[in-house]
Amino acid sequence: MSKGLLIVVSGPSGAGKGTICKELLNELDLNISISATTRNPRIGEVDGENYFFITKDKFQDMLLEKQFLEHAEVYGNYYGTPKSNVLDMLEEGKDVLLEIDIQGALSVKEIYPDGVFIFILPPSMEELKNRIEKRGTETKEAMLNRLESAYKELKYVFKYDYGVLNDTVESAVDNIKAIIKAEKCKVNRQKNLIKNIEEV
Ligand code: 5GP
Repeated sequence: MSKGLLIVVSGPSGAGKGTICKELLNELDLNISISATTRNPRIGEVDGENYFFITKDKFQDMLLEKQFLEHAEVYGNYYGTPKSNVLDMLEEGKDVLLEIDIQGALSVKEIYPDGVFIFILPPSMEELKNRIEKRGTETKEAMLNRLESAYKELKYVFKYDYGVLNDTVESAVDNIKAIIKAEKCKVNRQKNLIKNIEEV
């Protein structure tokens, strides 16, 4: 059986990766990994569904036990992708979607270069500012901080396999579906390509 595809979607805060990933999950047969984080839950967030909300001590223990595929500090909080679940799903031929920040994505690329790395870009800095402001979950200072980081982070797009402009959610999702389709047709991903034909 061919391995599942690891699809890593990342990009600056406010670029819209969360909305895009939700839509991808609705439309495609993808599995997600639930990250662990030390940040407090926001209103409506559920432990074990949105994140595993854990203490800094617990995070540190998991780190020492090498339980994370990657981890990163994002705006003062720690986030990590639990390793065993993701690798097991890939081995079982299941496709896995990771929505993580840029530092995390680049460390996954180091250890799992076979993944597909997709960077989501906002249509403009003005729109990015509007989106971050609209969220309203941040203080003014935190928002400015996110905007400044987002601007610096844009240059990392060149370390990714694909850059997708989030002009509209629909077009971004369409482009990502096309990327996934093409990646699955790559010869090196189809273990039994000729064998299957010979057996017919
Ligand atoms: P938020 O706190 O708004 O849910 O997420 C903040 C940032 O952390 C987002 O860019 C999100 O993609 C990223 N993030 C969420 N989970 C993980 C993870 O497991 N690892 C890394 N590196 N980033 C994550």
